[in-house]
Amino acid sequence: MDKKIVFIMGAGHSGSTLLGLILGSHSRGFGLGEVVKLGKMLNKPAQTESQLCFVCQGKCEFWDERVNLDVLRRYFSRSRVTRYLAQRRRDLFDYFFDWTEADVLVDFSKQVGWIKPQMKQLQRVSHITPYVVYITRDGRAVTNSRLRKYPDSNMGREAIRWRKNVEQMNRFYRGLPAHQKLHVAYERLATQPGVVIQEVCEWLQIPYEPDMLNYWQHEHHLGPGNRGTASLIIRHQKMQTERDFEVDAPIANERHKGHYEKMGLAIKLDLRWQEELTEEQVQTFEKLAGETNRPFITNVTAETS
Ligand SMILES: [Zn+2]
Repeated sequence: MDKKIVFIMGAGHSGSTLLGLILGSHSRGFGLGEVVKLGKMLNKPAQTESQLCFVCQGKCEFWDERVNLDVLRRYFSRSRVTRYLAQRRRDLFDYFFDWTEADVLVDFSKQVGWIKPQMKQLQRVSHITPYVVYITRDGRAVTNSRLRKYPDSNMGREAIRWRKNVEQMNRFYRGLPAHQKLHVAYERLATQPGVVIQEVCEWLQIPYEPDMLNYWQHEHHLGPGNRGTASLIIRHQKMQTERDFEVDAPIANERHKGHYEKMGLAIKLDLRWQEELTEEQVQTFEKLAGETNRPFITNVTAETS
Protein backbone atom coordinates (compact mmCIF):
# COMPACT_ATOMS: atom_id res chain seq x y z
CA MET A 1 0.00 0.00 0.00
CA ASP A 2 1.24 3.50 -0.86
CA LYS A 3 1.74 5.79 2.08
CA LYS A 4 -0.91 8.43 2.61
CA ILE A 5 -1.25 11.45 4.83
CA VAL A 6 -4.61 12.95 5.55
CA PHE A 7 -4.51 16.56 6.66
CA ILE A 8 -7.71 17.57 8.37
CA MET A 9 -8.46 21.21 7.71
CA GLY A 10 -11.21 23.18 9.41
CA ALA A 11 -12.11 25.81 11.96
CA GLY A 12 -11.84 24.70 15.61
CA HIS A 13 -15.06 23.18 17.01
CA SER A 14 -16.05 21.84 13.60
CA GLY A 15 -15.64 18.13 14.33
CA SER A 16 -12.02 17.73 13.23
CA THR A 17 -11.06 15.68 16.30
CA LEU A 18 -14.04 13.38 15.80
CA LEU A 19 -13.16 12.84 12.13
CA GLY A 20 -9.49 12.32 12.99
CA LEU A 21 -10.28 9.75 15.66
CA ILE A 22 -12.52 7.81 13.28
CA LEU A 23 -9.88 7.75 10.52
CA GLY A 24 -7.19 6.91 13.08
CA SER A 25 -9.29 3.88 14.06
CA HIS A 26 -8.73 2.25 10.67
CA SER A 27 -6.62 -0.90 11.01
CA ARG A 28 -3.95 0.68 8.76
CA GLY A 29 -4.38 4.21 10.10
CA PHE A 30 -2.83 6.24 12.90
CA GLY A 31 -4.07 9.55 14.30
CA LEU A 32 -1.17 11.82 15.24
CA GLY A 33 -3.19 14.66 16.77
CA GLU A 34 -2.21 18.24 15.98
CA VAL A 35 1.33 17.85 14.68
CA VAL A 36 1.66 21.64 14.40
CA LYS A 37 1.53 21.90 18.20
CA LEU A 38 4.45 19.51 18.78
CA GLY A 39 6.96 22.35 18.57
CA LYS A 40 5.40 24.21 21.46
CA MET A 41 5.36 21.03 23.56
CA LEU A 42 8.94 20.02 22.69
CA ASN A 43 10.35 23.46 23.37
CA LYS A 44 8.84 23.72 26.83
CA PRO A 45 11.78 23.25 29.21
CA ALA A 46 9.89 21.50 32.01
CA GLN A 47 7.88 19.23 29.76
CA THR A 48 8.24 15.56 30.54
CA GLU A 49 8.14 13.25 27.57
CA SER A 50 5.09 11.25 28.58
CA GLN A 51 2.94 14.36 28.38
CA LEU A 52 3.19 14.32 24.61
CA CYS A 53 0.44 11.69 24.55
CA PHE A 54 -2.95 13.12 25.39
CA VAL A 55 -4.56 9.74 25.88
CA CYS A 56 -2.10 7.67 27.91
CA GLN A 57 -1.74 8.52 31.52
CA GLY A 58 1.84 7.83 32.52
CA LYS A 59 4.21 6.19 30.09
CA CYS A 60 3.13 5.99 26.46
CA GLU A 61 4.39 3.10 24.36
CA PHE A 62 4.24 5.24 21.22
CA TRP A 63 5.43 8.75 22.09
CA ASP A 64 7.89 7.57 24.77
CA GLU A 65 9.23 4.43 23.18
CA ARG A 66 8.82 4.45 19.42
CA VAL A 67 9.22 8.12 18.60
CA ASN A 68 12.76 9.49 18.51
CA LEU A 69 12.38 12.82 20.27
CA ASP A 70 15.84 14.00 19.21
CA VAL A 71 14.79 13.68 15.59
CA LEU A 72 11.51 15.44 16.32
CA ARG A 73 13.31 18.29 18.11
CA ARG A 74 15.31 19.05 14.98
CA TYR A 75 12.12 19.46 12.91
CA PHE A 76 10.67 21.82 15.49
CA SER A 77 13.92 23.52 16.43
CA ARG A 78 13.89 27.25 17.08
CA SER A 79 16.79 27.45 14.61
CA ARG A 80 15.66 27.92 11.05
CA VAL A 81 18.81 26.30 9.69
CA THR A 82 18.34 23.18 11.82
CA ARG A 83 14.73 22.88 10.66
CA TYR A 84 15.71 23.38 7.04
CA LEU A 85 18.48 20.79 7.13
CA ALA A 86 16.28 18.21 8.86
CA GLN A 87 13.51 18.66 6.33
CA ARG A 88 15.90 18.49 3.39
CA ARG A 89 17.36 15.23 4.57
CA ARG A 90 14.09 13.40 5.07
CA ASP A 91 10.46 14.37 5.34
CA LEU A 92 9.10 14.49 8.88
CA PHE A 93 6.18 12.22 8.04
CA ASP A 94 8.54 9.60 6.64
CA TYR A 95 9.76 9.09 10.21
CA PHE A 96 6.22 8.90 11.48
CA PHE A 97 5.46 6.11 8.98
CA ASP A 98 8.41 4.16 10.42
CA TRP A 99 7.45 4.82 14.03
CA THR A 100 3.75 3.98 13.59
CA GLU A 101 4.08 1.23 10.94
CA ALA A 102 0.81 2.61 9.57
CA ASP A 103 -0.07 3.24 5.92
CA VAL A 104 -2.36 6.19 6.57
CA LEU A 105 -1.35 8.98 8.93
CA VAL A 106 -3.87 11.55 10.09
CA ASP A 107 -2.71 15.03 11.06
CA PHE A 108 -5.38 17.01 12.97
CA SER A 109 -3.50 20.33 12.66
CA LYS A 110 -6.43 22.09 10.90
CA GLN A 111 -4.63 25.31 9.86
CA VAL A 112 -3.70 26.35 6.33
CA GLY A 113 -0.48 27.89 7.69
CA TRP A 114 0.74 24.39 8.57
CA ILE A 115 -0.86 22.27 5.84
CA LYS A 116 0.31 24.41 2.91
CA PRO A 117 4.07 24.11 3.53
CA GLN A 118 3.71 20.38 4.34
CA MET A 119 1.99 19.78 1.00
CA LYS A 120 4.80 21.63 -0.74
CA GLN A 121 7.48 19.56 1.01
CA LEU A 122 5.67 16.36 0.15
CA GLN A 123 5.77 17.11 -3.57
CA ARG A 124 9.39 16.00 -3.40
CA VAL A 125 8.55 12.70 -1.70
CA SER A 126 7.31 10.29 -4.34
CA HIS A 127 6.13 7.43 -2.10
CA ILE A 128 3.84 9.58 0.08
CA THR A 129 0.60 11.14 -1.17
CA PRO A 130 -0.97 13.97 0.82
CA TYR A 131 -4.72 14.46 1.01
CA VAL A 132 -6.75 17.31 2.47
CA VAL A 133 -10.16 16.76 3.96
CA TYR A 134 -11.98 20.00 4.66
CA ILE A 135 -14.48 19.71 7.48
CA THR A 136 -16.98 22.54 7.74
CA ARG A 137 -19.77 23.34 10.14
CA ASP A 138 -22.46 26.01 10.37
CA GLY A 139 -20.57 29.08 11.62
CA ARG A 140 -23.27 29.83 14.18
CA ALA A 141 -22.52 26.52 15.91
CA VAL A 142 -18.77 27.19 15.77
CA THR A 143 -19.02 30.70 17.22
CA ASN A 144 -21.40 29.44 19.91
CA SER A 145 -18.83 26.83 20.99
CA ARG A 146 -16.15 29.53 21.06
CA LEU A 147 -18.34 31.79 23.19
CA ARG A 148 -18.99 28.93 25.61
CA LYS A 149 -15.23 28.39 25.91
CA TYR A 150 -14.30 32.09 25.97
CA PRO A 151 -17.17 33.87 27.75
CA ASP A 152 -15.24 37.17 27.74
CA SER A 153 -15.31 37.29 23.96
CA ASN A 154 -18.31 38.51 21.98
CA MET A 155 -20.20 37.52 18.85
CA GLY A 156 -18.84 40.39 16.78
CA ARG A 157 -15.27 39.32 17.35
CA GLU A 158 -15.99 35.61 16.92
CA ALA A 159 -18.00 36.04 13.71
CA ILE A 160 -15.19 38.02 12.07
CA ARG A 161 -12.59 35.57 13.31
CA TRP A 162 -14.55 32.64 11.87
CA ARG A 163 -15.19 34.38 8.54
CA LYS A 164 -11.53 35.27 7.98
CA ASN A 165 -10.42 31.74 8.84
CA VAL A 166 -13.00 30.14 6.53
CA GLU A 167 -12.21 32.51 3.64
CA GLN A 168 -8.53 31.60 3.91
CA MET A 169 -9.35 27.86 3.94
CA ASN A 170 -11.75 28.23 0.98
CA ARG A 171 -9.04 29.92 -1.08
CA PHE A 172 -6.50 27.21 -0.29
CA TYR A 173 -9.04 24.45 -0.94
CA ARG A 174 -9.99 25.84 -4.37
CA GLY A 175 -6.34 25.68 -5.47
CA LEU A 176 -5.86 22.00 -4.58
CA PRO A 177 -6.01 19.29 -7.28
CA ALA A 178 -9.43 17.56 -7.37
CA HIS A 179 -8.23 14.07 -6.45
CA GLN A 180 -6.39 15.33 -3.36
CA LYS A 181 -9.29 17.10 -1.68
CA LEU A 182 -12.63 16.22 -0.16
CA HIS A 183 -15.25 18.29 1.64
CA VAL A 184 -17.08 16.85 4.65
CA ALA A 185 -19.89 18.72 6.37
CA TYR A 186 -19.92 18.09 10.12
CA GLU A 187 -23.72 17.94 10.13
CA ARG A 188 -23.66 15.08 7.61
CA LEU A 189 -20.85 13.26 9.42
CA ALA A 190 -22.79 13.42 12.68
CA THR A 191 -26.08 12.17 11.20
CA GLN A 192 -24.84 9.70 8.55
CA PRO A 193 -21.39 8.69 9.79
CA GLY A 194 -21.37 5.35 7.95
CA VAL A 195 -22.15 6.92 4.58
CA VAL A 196 -19.67 9.76 5.01
CA ILE A 197 -16.79 7.61 6.25
CA GLN A 198 -17.40 5.16 3.42
CA GLU A 199 -17.04 8.06 0.98
CA VAL A 200 -13.85 9.21 2.69
CA CYS A 201 -12.38 5.68 2.49
CA GLU A 202 -13.29 5.37 -1.20
CA TRP A 203 -11.62 8.68 -1.92
CA LEU A 204 -8.50 7.55 -0.02
CA GLN A 205 -8.68 4.17 -1.75
CA ILE A 206 -8.59 2.23 1.47
CA PRO A 207 -11.15 -0.45 2.48
CA TYR A 208 -14.00 0.86 4.62
CA GLU A 209 -14.16 -0.75 8.07
CA PRO A 210 -17.52 -0.18 9.82
CA ASP A 211 -15.85 -0.61 13.21
CA MET A 212 -13.99 2.67 12.70
CA LEU A 213 -17.14 4.43 13.84
CA ASN A 214 -16.64 2.97 17.33
CA TYR A 215 -13.52 5.10 17.57
CA TRP A 216 -13.46 5.05 21.38
CA GLN A 217 -12.90 1.29 21.38
CA HIS A 218 -9.64 1.62 19.47
CA GLU A 219 -6.18 2.40 20.75
CA HIS A 220 -5.11 6.01 20.20
CA HIS A 221 -1.93 7.88 21.02
CA LEU A 222 -2.78 11.43 20.13
CA GLY A 223 -0.14 14.08 20.30
CA PRO A 224 -1.14 17.61 21.28
CA GLY A 225 -4.68 18.68 20.55
CA ASN A 226 -8.20 18.55 21.81
CA ARG A 227 -7.99 17.60 25.46
CA GLY A 228 -11.76 17.34 25.75
CA THR A 229 -12.16 14.45 23.35
CA ALA A 230 -9.02 12.72 24.57
CA SER A 231 -10.28 12.86 28.15
CA LEU A 232 -13.53 11.23 27.06
CA ILE A 233 -11.54 8.31 25.72
CA ILE A 234 -9.58 8.06 28.95
CA ARG A 235 -12.81 8.03 30.96
CA HIS A 236 -14.23 5.35 28.71
CA GLN A 237 -11.15 3.16 29.12
CA LYS A 238 -11.24 3.56 32.89
CA MET A 239 -14.88 2.52 32.99
CA GLN A 240 -14.06 -0.41 30.73
CA THR A 241 -11.53 -1.61 33.28
CA GLU A 242 -14.06 -1.27 36.08
CA ARG A 243 -16.61 -3.07 33.99
CA ASP A 244 -14.28 -6.03 33.47
CA PHE A 245 -14.67 -6.78 37.17
CA GLU A 246 -18.45 -6.70 36.94
CA VAL A 247 -19.12 -9.53 34.55
CA ASP A 248 -21.99 -10.81 36.70
CA ALA A 249 -23.66 -7.47 37.14
CA PRO A 250 -25.83 -6.75 34.11
CA ILE A 251 -27.63 -3.92 35.92
CA ALA A 252 -24.36 -2.10 36.46
CA ASN A 253 -23.53 -2.60 32.80
CA GLU A 254 -26.82 -1.08 31.74
CA ARG A 255 -26.18 1.89 33.98
CA HIS A 256 -22.77 2.39 32.39
CA LYS A 257 -24.27 2.14 28.95
CA GLY A 258 -26.56 5.07 29.72
CA HIS A 259 -23.59 6.95 31.05
CA TYR A 260 -21.61 6.52 27.83
CA GLU A 261 -24.48 7.97 25.91
CA LYS A 262 -24.60 10.94 28.24
CA MET A 263 -20.85 11.43 27.87
CA GLY A 264 -21.36 11.86 24.16
CA LEU A 265 -18.95 9.21 22.90
CA ALA A 266 -21.45 7.96 20.38
CA ILE A 267 -21.53 10.14 17.28
CA LYS A 268 -24.45 12.53 17.45
CA LEU A 269 -25.31 15.94 16.09
CA ASP A 270 -24.69 18.89 18.40
CA LEU A 271 -27.20 21.69 17.68
CA ARG A 272 -26.96 23.46 21.01
CA TRP A 273 -26.39 26.81 19.26
CA GLN A 274 -30.07 26.91 18.28
CA GLU A 275 -31.02 27.15 21.96
CA GLU A 276 -28.01 28.99 23.31
CA LEU A 277 -27.50 31.92 20.93
CA THR A 278 -29.68 34.96 21.50
CA GLU A 279 -31.65 36.55 18.66
CA GLU A 280 -29.25 39.49 18.80
CA GLN A 281 -26.19 37.24 18.50
CA VAL A 282 -27.71 35.45 15.51
CA GLN A 283 -28.32 38.82 13.83
CA THR A 284 -24.78 40.00 14.56
CA PHE A 285 -23.41 36.81 13.03
CA GLU A 286 -25.63 37.20 9.98
CA LYS A 287 -24.46 40.74 9.39
CA LEU A 288 -20.74 39.95 9.72
CA ALA A 289 -20.46 36.41 8.33
CA GLY A 290 -23.86 35.41 6.92
CA GLU A 291 -22.72 35.41 3.31
CA THR A 292 -19.71 33.18 4.00
CA ASN A 293 -21.89 30.83 6.04
CA ARG A 294 -24.53 30.33 3.32
CA PRO A 295 -23.00 27.13 1.82
CA PHE A 296 -22.70 25.55 5.27
CA ILE A 297 -26.32 25.84 6.31
CA THR A 298 -28.03 22.46 6.37
CA ASN A 299 -31.55 21.40 7.25
CA VAL A 300 -30.58 18.49 9.47
CA THR A 301 -32.22 18.06 12.85
CA ALA A 302 -30.99 16.12 15.86
CA GLU A 303 -33.62 13.43 15.21
CA THR A 304 -32.13 12.45 11.84
CA SER A 305 -29.87 9.49 12.37
ZN1 LIG B 1 -0.20 7.08 24.32
